[in-house]
Amino acid sequence: MTANLLDFDLDGLAAFCERLGEKRFRATQLFRWIHQRGAHQFDQMSDLAKSLREKLATVAEVKGLSVISQHESADGTIKWLFDVGAGDAVEAVFIPEHDRGTLCVSSQAGCAVGCRFCSTGHQGFSRNLTTGEITAQLWFAEHFLRQHLGRDERVISNVVMMGMGEPLQNYAALVPALKTMLSDHGYGLSRRRVTVSTSGVVPMMDRLAVDCPVALAVSLHAPHDALRDSLVPLNRKYPLAELMDSCVRYLDYAPRDFITFEYCMLDGVNDQPEHAQQLIQWVRTHGGKGVSCKFNLIPFNPFPESGLTRSGAAQVTLFAKILSEAGIVTTVRKTRGDDIDAACGQLAGEVKDRTKVTQRMQFQRNAALGVTSVSHDAGGVAA
Ligand code: SF4
Repeated sequence: MTANLLDFDLDGLAAFCERLGEKRFRATQLFRWIHQRGAHQFDQMSDLAKSLREKLATVAEVKGLSVISQHESADGTIKWLFDVGAGDAVEAVFIPEHDRGTLCVSSQAGCAVGCRFCSTGHQGFSRNLTTGEITAQLWFAEHFLRQHLGRDERVISNVVMMGMGEPLQNYAALVPALKTMLSDHGYGLSRRRVTVSTSGVVPMMDRLAVDCPVALAVSLHAPHDALRDSLVPLNRKYPLAELMDSCVRYLDYAPRDFITFEYCMLDGVNDQPEHAQQLIQWVRTHGGKGVSCKFNLIPFNPFPESGLTRSGAAQVTLFAKILSEAGIVTTVRKTRGDDIDAACGQLAGEVKDRTKVTQRMQFQRNAALGVTSVSHDAGGVAA
């Protein structure tokens, strides 16, 4: 079977090369060609022995993802929709700012957590992405952007695992992908600039702290269990007190001295002053010492199936003010790429997007079979 070299972190590639009778430094050379230079053909790799290149060509490949579509926003945000097979598609989004370039990466096709305010959650779960499929989003985006922007040096300085899926429910594939992002022979990203965002998979937060401590963002969205149970169903398994305990433990390993709490502002649901006060209570007093944190308030991107609406600007400002006056650093996320549906919560196949993907693929299949008409609801919602 042909191995996809994007599936390996450097240690994995070294083990693969060892099986071919090659030394570790060959794996390092290969890794640099793939990730630092974007090479995908072995005959491009001029400092590898010809015999090794020929051997690799028979047993391995560097296989990225097919791009279904690319949309560039007026503000420079670029969204790619990638085909991951069987009618599934995932998105990655590049968000440029004056001092950084951030790539938002997906970890699963669909998501099993089913958060009420998330369009991905409403599609259900298809499957975990492989390490190669996670890494391929960065590999493609970085090398595309260098060409697109005419730059020789690195374009992507930050990665956030905030696309489609719950990364900590795809832990085995996630960790090697993170290691490739962090490797000096790969993308050389700082641990502080790689963020895993979780809805609160407590046991895996504890494992991540030990295996690959990167910056952590926790999707909080509610200040008490009854409300969080209804917004983030995983809360029934790992309620707030357990989640906060895990955050405190993570801080002993984290590259930053705070956890980022993401909080999607939902009109009349979780955006009242008493909710802000309850949050302050948690992060000031939990476990006696509180939880060192920042809050990131996220404007909700409404979609019909949610039955929810976005909090008004005045409500968001008041909420932020209450948290800030309690000494908690609080930011309000700017919405980016609205004109291309790239804003958070619409990632990776907003229901209608994925339906279109499914329909297009159904159309292609039917065309191949000589079928001429396609029902409007062919495929429906993909997951
Ligand atoms: S917010 Fe994250 S964890 Fe929740 S359903 Fe959406 S993708 Fe899954």
